[in-house]
Amino acid sequence: MAEAPLHVVVASLEDAEKRINEFEVETVTSFTVFRRNKGFREVFSADLGKHRVKWEDVSRGEGPKIQYNGTPIIILGWDVRECQFGPDRNVTKKLKYQLEKTVEGKKDHSYIQKGRTLVQNTKKQDCPARIHLKRICVFPEYKINGPDSIWKRKDQSRRLKTDLENKKDPVTWEEEIHILFPSLDDHRNHVTGQLAGICQPIDKVIKKKIQCLMDEGVTKVAEMKRHIKSFSKKDLGNTSTQNRRFYPLDKDIRNVMDSYKNQTRFSKDDKENLELLLEEYKSVNDKDSFYLDISEYVHAVGSLFSH
Ligand SMILES: [Zn+2]
Repeated sequence: MAEAPLHVVVASLEDAEKRINEFEVETVTSFTVFRRNKGFREVFSADLGKHRVKWEDVSRGEGPKIQYNGTPIIILGWDVRECQFGPDRNVTKKLKYQLEKTVEGKKDHSYIQKGRTLVQNTKKQDCPARIHLKRICVFPEYKINGPDSIWKRKDQSRRLKTDLENKKDPVTWEEEIHILFPSLDDHRNHVTGQLAGICQPIDKVIKKKIQCLMDEGVTKVAEMKRHIKSFSKKDLGNTSTQNRRFYPLDKDIRNVMDSYKNQTRFSKDDKENLELLLEEYKSVNDKDSFYLDISEYVHAVGSLFSH
């Protein structure tokens, strides 16, 4: 039996991310942002008057439909996420790298060279499954009471618009994020269910835990793996050891450890280099008095390297 897509409404972007994460864990799937518009993450309260007042949003597209319920709305933004096996966008090197990591698990398409797994076939599977999000503002105080009519809609829209533009008395609004999750039947050309666990990217919580453990002095992959296994089982309650999201392979752990090491090393080296330069500069320009905010500089350099 085909399962219907799931329409969920939450009250904030933070809750939406949380809900998506839960969904990914429950369904052993993983999604990445494909497209989103500016309004999806923007702080918006200042100029709501510029937006169009609507009463429903049921038109074109595959996004969540927002039905008329008497309350006016403003659409702030949208966001579309694709299954990790979605079409190969391949626009930047970074994406390509992520992609390689995703399919790395498939031994039949890869070979080992110099201790690293390289991928020959980096083709994605063109899976069409997507998560659609719509961020809206609702105005319960401007709700139409009684039967709906074109005249009432126009009248209330005008009232709301004027109040928003005047900004004298702040208009009360509530934020809603509508999420439309695909059903498992929407996935194509790849395994789903527990079997898909072997292709799952590492979970954010596990990534953080690895970094924390590194800060505490864990340096060996094998030791890290033991810690993570116990953390996933005891602290997170995940028992499916086939799921790479919570039971990462050695190479997943190594990747996280290497990139964290690089991150911290760059900032440490840069700081030391800068301090040396500064000393030199000071000794040459004895009379100059100046101040350089090292922390800011290191941050800037750090972000350069992280791209
Ligand atoms: Zn899929």
